[in-house]
Amino acid sequence: MSVLVTGGAGFIGAHMALALIDRGESVVVLDNLSTGVRANIPSSAVFVPGDIGDSQVLKGLFAAYPIDAITHFAASTVVPDSVRDPLSYYLNNTVNTRNLIAAAVEARVRHFVFSSTAAVYGAPAGPLVSETAPTDPISPYGASKLMSERILRDASAAHDLGVAILRYFNVAGADPQARAGQSTPRATHLIKICVEAALGRRDGVDIYGEDYPTPDGTGVRDYIHVSDLIDAHLAALDSLRAGAPNLLYNCGYGRGHSVREVIDAINRVAGTSLPVRMRPRREGDAAAVVADASAIRADLGWTPRFDDLDIIVRHALAWERRAGRDRF
Ligand code: UDP
Repeated sequence: MSVLVTGGAGFIGAHMALALIDRGESVVVLDNLSTGVRANIPSSAVFVPGDIGDSQVLKGLFAAYPIDAITHFAASTVVPDSVRDPLSYYLNNTVNTRNLIAAAVEARVRHFVFSSTAAVYGAPAGPLVSETAPTDPISPYGASKLMSERILRDASAAHDLGVAILRYFNVAGADPQARAGQSTPRATHLIKICVEAALGRRDGVDIYGEDYPTPDGTGVRDYIHVSDLIDAHLAALDSLRAGAPNLLYNCGYGRGHSVREVIDAINRVAGTSLPVRMRPRREGDAAAVVADASAIRADLGWTPRFDDLDIIVRHALAWERRAGRDRF
């Protein structure tokens, strides 16, 4: 059997494809290369260029390969962009995901692991967000993912499709061997921006808001290393294949770091002193979003290997140096 990795040319999808191949699985990558990079796709994966919104491509793919599981990463992922252009986000993230689910049901795919997000919680009321916290997205991005969760749950109840929903907090870092990392050309995520600045590819870092109700006034997030996130996917997939009922887990470490703490970590690891500029708050941003991730640890035995901001930053920096050699 094969695993379909949608968005396998993107940051997280490429790590998933690598991890599956590392453990001997057959992988088919579907990616439209809108933000993904061809070179990120491992050479031993089958690459099908195309869009999850294209039913003909999906039909051909499911007819050609024996797919038992889908890990669905293909999506638009930038919160502020979703505020500016919500309809594109609802099309790509919700409508097209519905299309993928329909094709999967038609092709009798048994397992579906879905990349969801902490943005479904909106502005959380408490310091730690558990899976039972109310979902109330404050951005179209979060809403587009929450709707997909609902469609998946309903499809699972009506059809023979096991579903694992993983709500990611802030994914960062890179493959420890620097085989993959974040390649997005116009990065908006904080750690990527900081490592670009540390390597002189930006003239500094903007801090969006210093008047949040957080210890130093800047936004607090739970940064999770991409390899730990991928381990969570493998555990969820194994659990579904072993016959577990549907799963829903937060993926984070349960500890938050402020924007200033991230910038300090970069300066520590890279030996820089990055110039910072204060900017107004960014639309759609919450003050603090930190996971209560105890459920996935308890249920699936997930144990993070890289729960350390300096390691995350070091791996991101190593990848950026390597990627830079190809691009600059
Ligand atoms: N942020 C920032 N400057 C940047 C990018 C991000 O101050 O150049 C802040 C942002 O306001 C948030 C945190 O860093 O508090 C993480 O933002 P990111 O875009 O990385 O992820 P998000 O939490 O929006 O998914």
